Amino acid sequence: MIKHDVVIVGAGLAGMRAAIEVSKELDVAVLTKVYPSRSHSGAAQGGIAAALGNSESDSWEEHMYDTIKGGDFLNDQDAVEEYVKAAPSIIYELEHMGCVFSRTADGKIAQRSFGGHSKPRACFSADRTGHAILHALHEQLMKQSKSIKIYNEWNMHSLVTEGNRCNGVVVSNVKTGAIEVMQAKAVIFCTGGYGRIFKITTNAFASTADGVMAAFRAGIPVEDAEFVQFHPSGLYRQGILFSEAARGEGGYLLNGKGDRFMEQYAPSRMELAPRDIVSRAEQSEIDEGRGVDGKDFIHLDLRHLGEARIMERLPQIRQLGIDFTSVDCVTDPLPIQPTAHYSMGGIPTNKFSQVVMDAEGTKMEGFFAAGECACVSVHGGNRLGTNSLLDATVFGRRAGMSALEYAKTVDFAKVNEGPEKTKVLKSFEDIYQRDGTESYNQIRNEMKEVMMEKCGVFRDEEKLKACIETIKSLHLRFKKGKVTDKGKLFNTEIYEILELENMLEMAQVIATCALARKESRGGHFRTDHDKRDDENFLKHTMAHGTIDELELKYKPVVITKHKPTERTY
Ligand SMILES: Cc1cc2nc3c(=O)[nH]c(=O)nc-3n(C[C@H](O)[C@H](O)[C@H](O)COP(=O)(O)OP(=O)(O)OC[C@H]3O[C@@H](n4cnc5c(N)ncnc54)[C@H](O)[C@@H]3O)c2cc1C
Repeated sequence: MIKHDVVIVGAGLAGMRAAIEVSKELDVAVLTKVYPSRSHSGAAQGGIAAALGNSESDSWEEHMYDTIKGGDFLNDQDAVEEYVKAAPSIIYELEHMGCVFSRTADGKIAQRSFGGHSKPRACFSADRTGHAILHALHEQLMKQSKSIKIYNEWNMHSLVTEGNRCNGVVVSNVKTGAIEVMQAKAVIFCTGGYGRIFKITTNAFASTADGVMAAFRAGIPVEDAEFVQFHPSGLYRQGILFSEAARGEGGYLLNGKGDRFMEQYAPSRMELAPRDIVSRAEQSEIDEGRGVDGKDFIHLDLRHLGEARIMERLPQIRQLGIDFTSVDCVTDPLPIQPTAHYSMGGIPTNKFSQVVMDAEGTKMEGFFAAGECACVSVHGGNRLGTNSLLDATVFGRRAGMSALEYAKTVDFAKVNEGPEKTKVLKSFEDIYQRDGTESYNQIRNEMKEVMMEKCGVFRDEEKLKACIETIKSLHLRFKKGKVTDKGKLFNTEIYEILELENMLEMAQVIATCALARKESRGGHFRTDHDKRDDENFLKHTMAHGTIDELELKYKPVVITKHKPTERTY
């Protein structure tokens, strides 16, 4: 059995930031299924929010209000307050760790505009902000290599719990296939989002809901799963992101007639309205036949910015356009469509990053979560751009502090290694022995297709019911698949199958929660219930139970400073 004081699963911004905190006093392991610098955080482009006020006067109060309005008032306001107040210190801390931010002419950290933020608040490193932060944090981990052990290309399969206490995780080494129990006094999940469930997505291949589903199987509910964010500027057909920074720098959205259609949908904020609103506007233009050339895409036009500004502020976007569609945005508009981008829902946590299991706040002792896999909920029904890198670092740090405090006060529990290992071994053996005729690839593609079509930007009862039926039948077919690689070494096929199972179950949770929420709020839009309904639905969904018997309960929203009002832009 492997033993560490604290085990962190995930080496994106949240996981690495947590590790730095724990390593100040205890021994910590960071486990990641991809090499740390390949975590999805490294793909973040546009920026990280903080009310520094470097380009216009700004305050945490304004950041707080923008975040809550952007989230359609589903945010827990106590957590939002803590989070926006911590933002400036997080930026300076990252800077001192060596993260290189773009600068103003007089040497301050530059800040640009982003959707839903009333002030230029996004600190950035050109359009490679996630890359810059992730590498700065990775360097800090290397520096602390005496107290931080990184398990590269190790996969977490399940949580080890007894009653309401978490004692470790069951993991496997991807290289050898060996299954191990990793015991810890505290476990922190930082496993990222689950955009790969959808056909068109910006997310990396590793974003497959492993953490949320491992927690769910250990009896922890999923909070607000129905809130999935669709980003307005995904590369047509491929989903690759063109950051909102492109619009923050002044880019236009044009329909097939060449009109800046946002005038009809959000006249005061135009292209910089929150993402849920812009994505719905785009999809409506496309659905009503005003896509470009009658097709299902519209244009992102940056030509008027000029080559010099594009090369200074958006170099990666230009290169992505050239590499993936042969379009140079200096001379031609880019073809785009909405793309699944971010999961507002996840493992329920409080503002101390402790995992809580119900409306009463009952804790799973020794278990913490942060970053995109967690639902604090600072983003409510819709996250504002640049608020997620901030979420991952603020609550990564917080989770590290909480886990450290906790782990110092407890001893290792008694863990019975055998049965924990056997459960995971059995699930491997079960897959190895299947000799069915179904293709896992086909099942994955059908899941992505149905989730995009029936549980996407626009939803209704009929579509969602059909979606749930399809996902259930795919799950049955999943059990009749066949694995072609029966080896143990670097068997990536078996890991993809396990990820597919996580995604199928998560898909069912998302669609079931979406069916029950008979209103429209933030990223969740029901054409058959197209208004927000605070009387009946100003509450968080908590999906409990098992995948075969999901039970939806609800939890009140924490409202401190801002009473819900109509959300217009
Ligand atoms: C293309 C793109 C651009 C973005 N741009 C911005 C932006 O400009 N500003 C902003 O605020 N937000 C942005 N976001 C969102 C933001 O990047 C993410 O929400 C955030 O980085 C998530 O960080 P994380 O640490 O929670 O998870 P990730 O960075 O996704 O890391 C997850 C980690 O978990 C590990 N893991 C997962 N499952 C397992 C398992 N079973 N076993 C072992 N390890 C596992 C992975 O290996 C990985 O290390 C962007 C997102 C995308 C996709």
